[in-house]
Amino acid sequence: MELNRYSIISQKNKREIVLLRGNGCKWKKCRFCDYHLDFNPDNNKNYELNKTVLSNVTGIYKVLEVINSGSFADLDEKTIVLIKKICFEKGIKTLHFESHWIHKDLIKKFKEYFSKDNITVKIKSGIETFDYNFREKYFLKGIPNIHPSELAKYFDEVCLLFGISGQTLGSMENDIQISLKYFSRVCINIMTENKTPIKPDKEVIKIFREKLYKKYKDCEKVDILIENTDFGIG
Ligand code: SF4
Repeated sequence: MELNRYSIISQKNKREIVLLRGNGCKWKKCRFCDYHLDFNPDNNKNYELNKTVLSNVTGIYKVLEVINSGSFADLDEKTIVLIKKICFEKGIKTLHFESHWIHKDLIKKFKEYFSKDNITVKIKSGIETFDYNFREKYFLKGIPNIHPSELAKYFDEVCLLFGISGQTLGSMENDIQISLKYFSRVCINIMTENKTPIKPDKEVIKIFREKLYKKYKDCEKVDILIENTDFGIG
């Protein structure tokens, strides 16, 4: 199936968003994830695809979010150089990228590469939940048992994953509150059926929809993806 790789988000935190392709997530173990399958080991092929996708960017909101079914570190160098060039050409001042914990030590240098030209980079990480046991024994996220304030030294924004058996109103509320306290934005993803053994739990999703969706849907700092294509990509 052909993926849609460019969209404009014109509500909260207005931005353009592109789904680029990298050479593959270096973690690949998260039990709920099958989107890491969108990769190609050939960086030249990735660059050709990314160039086409990036040609859609207009700079309409001066903000661009770049995702690539993995981490910024999986993108080839030519793509990164092209993103910077597009920022110059289109007047883009803020970039959002994603990163897994294993690339945390690359973030500072990566941000500096852009900030020396007055482009701010925000890094989002899929933390999924701040419940360490749930995250590491069930999701296999590969993030150590450290305080959220330690995670916030590397990551500006987080993603949470809700709609899984074992999660409760209290656990989801707690995850949102921690996110809002320590990070500038949070993106809540509701689990949808995919090729992995982790299945969405309709009851948990119902609790989220009835109790939390209404409460947070208008919060400027919160994005909620009921379907993982709600940003118009994927
Ligand atoms: S780090 Fe991201 S892309 Fe990699 S397996 Fe986990 S959720 Fe999937």
